[in-house]
Amino acid sequence: MNYRHVYHAGNFADVLKHAVLALVIEHLKSKGTPFRVIDTHAGVGSYDLSSTEAQKTGEWLDGIGRLTGATLPPGIADILRPYLMAVSRENIGSGGAILRYPGSPQIARSLLRPVDILAVNELHPDDCVRLTRLFAGDPQTKVLKLNGWDAIKALLPPKERRGVTLIDPPFEELGEFDRLVQGLRDAHKRFATGTVIAWYPIKDERAVAAFHAGLQRLEMSKLMSVVLMVRNPSHLGGLPGTGLVISNPPFTLESKLQVLLPYLKETLQQGSGARSHIEWLKREAAPIQDT
Ligand code: SAM
Repeated sequence: MNYRHVYHAGNFADVLKHAVLALVIEHLKSKGTPFRVIDTHAGVGSYDLSSTEAQKTGEWLDGIGRLTGATLPPGIADILRPYLMAVSRENIGSGGAILRYPGSPQIARSLLRPVDILAVNELHPDDCVRLTRLFAGDPQTKVLKLNGWDAIKALLPPKERRGVTLIDPPFEELGEFDRLVQGLRDAHKRFATGTVIAWYPIKDERAVAAFHAGLQRLEMSKLMSVVLMVRNPSHLGGLPGTGLVISNPPFTLESKLQVLLPYLKETLQQGSGARSHIEWLKREAAPIQDT
């Protein structure tokens, strides 16, 4: 387990992932009944952007740094409000500067109502200690140290029978795409009506096509793929694109992403080949879901 998210915190992939997470949570809040957010690969929850690690890559400058430096058109500002509010809360007292970036646990936590629950899981021993410290004394947040793939099975279905699960593995080992297909299968088997957001990197478009084909064989009724490429893949490596697959997306999400994605593509692009799209991998008529 060598992956450290601090090198990447707040980059373009985090922007898309966290903006979508925030939109899904806001949709869950449109009903009064409690829900649970489950984060299977949580990281440390909050990142110091002045740290040596974050400064070394400076990835956040081309992610959240570009958004906070831009004047957002009103429609975009509305869509990004919950996400940017979570980022601002992490930077209270900074005079508008972005000094820290909230990871998915803090984004989720800052958007919960008093009745909602957050379950965050992180396997790395040091990171789990930091996560535990971050949420010490918080009765709404449970911190676990399981293998994330086991956490899916252990934590679903949530007691509330409403909620969203974020599966955000580091992709540092071979076979992660296959594990992600299996993870989505496990999540669906245990909590068919819940929303799952799963993240993956786009470096090799053939690997992504095979991943999507695997997902299309799953017995799910609603599975949406969201892609944001900030440049063409190149031999220089790095991360040219980011993808999310979302099972049971809230009905409001697609139209918001249709507006947001072209804006993110324009604002976050890093070279030629920037593009974005939404594709339904599965879209069968199914009973109305209570998410
Ligand atoms: N979700 C976080 C966010 O958006 O702020 C970022 C998570 S980072 C991409 C992936 C995390 O998974 C790392 O903190 C890593 O230590 C952890 N991890 C790696 N393998 C794991 C496993 N098998 N189970 C649980 N966590 C794991």
